[in-house]
Amino acid sequence: MPHLLIAGCGAAGMYAAVHAARRGCRVTVLDGNDRPGHKLSITGKGRCNVTNDCDLDTFLQNVPRNPRFLYSALSRCMPADVQAFFEAEGVPLKTERGRRVFPQSDRAQDIVSALLKAMQDAGVTVHLNSRVKKLILSDNSCTGVILSDGSELRADAVLLATGGMSYPRTGSRGDGYRLAEQAGLTVIPPQPSLIPLETAESDAAEMQGLSLRNVTLTVTQGKKTVFTELGEMLFTHFGISGPLVLSASCRMDPQKLDSYLLNIDMKPALTPEQLDARMLRDFAAQQNKDIVNALRGLLPASMIPVMLNRTDIPQTQKIHDITKAQRMTLGSCIKGFALHASAMRPVTEAIVTRGGVSVKEINPNTMESKKIRGLYIAGELLDVDAYTGGYNLQIAFATGYAAALAAAEQDPA
Ligand SMILES: Cc1cc2nc3c(=O)[nH]c(=O)nc-3n(C[C@H](O)[C@H](O)[C@H](O)COP(=O)(O)OP(=O)(O)OC[C@H]3O[C@@H](n4cnc5c(N)ncnc54)[C@H](O)[C@@H]3O)c2cc1C
Repeated sequence: MPHLLIAGCGAAGMYAAVHAARRGCRVTVLDGNDRPGHKLSITGKGRCNVTNDCDLDTFLQNVPRNPRFLYSALSRCMPADVQAFFEAEGVPLKTERGRRVFPQSDRAQDIVSALLKAMQDAGVTVHLNSRVKKLILSDNSCTGVILSDGSELRADAVLLATGGMSYPRTGSRGDGYRLAEQAGLTVIPPQPSLIPLETAESDAAEMQGLSLRNVTLTVTQGKKTVFTELGEMLFTHFGISGPLVLSASCRMDPQKLDSYLLNIDMKPALTPEQLDARMLRDFAAQQNKDIVNALRGLLPASMIPVMLNRTDIPQTQKIHDITKAQRMTLGSCIKGFALHASAMRPVTEAIVTRGGVSVKEINPNTMESKKIRGLYIAGELLDVDAYTGGYNLQIAFATGYAAALAAAEQDPA
């Protein structure tokens, strides 16, 4: 029976371990951390959006970089298969808005526990606090690993499932990129994706802590709209964050940030005319008030001074003195609050790392390196990443599964 060493006890590594062991492989999983599946346990704000219950075409449309590479792996491990796996392991699931799948318990830890139990049942050995430092390579084959304490472990195949380089406290510190490079594999420089944005305008910070629901964020580049969606976002001390911003960032080129214009429509349900009629109605009842106090029904308190500042309307101007032109300018600012991204936050704060091991050098059916026999790559370490919605975990499971099936057929030494 072939012996498979898996570096990384995360989503890809655990899913691969179960399926390789169930196919008769002897499987040893090594993790540098003391907590298996740490990142998985914090996914989906602790609820784990474990997959997206969609078909293959829809799935691939949600993968902005190298979607075709995933075709084969996903064909054999679809979201429905992952759902069936967890249900069979005793984790009932539910599907929410946008076909996002979560455990019914809303506990990400249930997903981690199910994987650990399935690994144990399948006879997988796990070594925690075992950080892989080097690959053992000879004759274009990978035959084992060297740990940071110097110990050597030999195997018929090695799967690198060490994740990206975001949230390093969960164990993903970018080791996999260095290990892949050691084996001569090309690594596309890792960069943040699904990441909060710093803004050039300092008034975003004046609203820090303000969370908005049902606003539309539109990102344009010249005449091209690269993103437009209704949802939730948040102002922070550095700029903007929240689900809408993370999704938008994934469509933006980090090298060309200054070419984008971000526009927030604070009242997407109202046309400009309806918004003006609403203001007229609100103002009619508050003729003698300062405008700063008269906008409370329309805008959150911390946004009012910012809006007035941007439109050059003095906060103490009485409502009866507000001109039609001022109202129009205010309306335009409410429906088109413009921001520019000055920087993405550091990759350590990203939900996902974009870039990674070039998929041109990986067999899409098996996840084996085309250069080094017996070396497999799965999960976020690969140069594929997706939008939010459970797609990134599904990619980790599907690529882990493909590697497991292939490694289980590897000839024992
Ligand atoms: C806050 C947050 C929320 C998220 N929410 C979701 C969500 O709801 N849905 C979704 O689809 N995606 C989500 N993601 C993305 C998803 O978690 C990752 O894409 C996924 O975990 C990648 O799986 P992986 O197995 O490749 O890597 P990881 O899960 O990061 O696992 C890698 C493992 O390798 C270990 N390791 C690293 N280096 C070494 C080494 N040298 N030797 C041994 N072990 C090593 C690490 O300790 C770690 O356990 C979220 C990410 C974050 C940060």
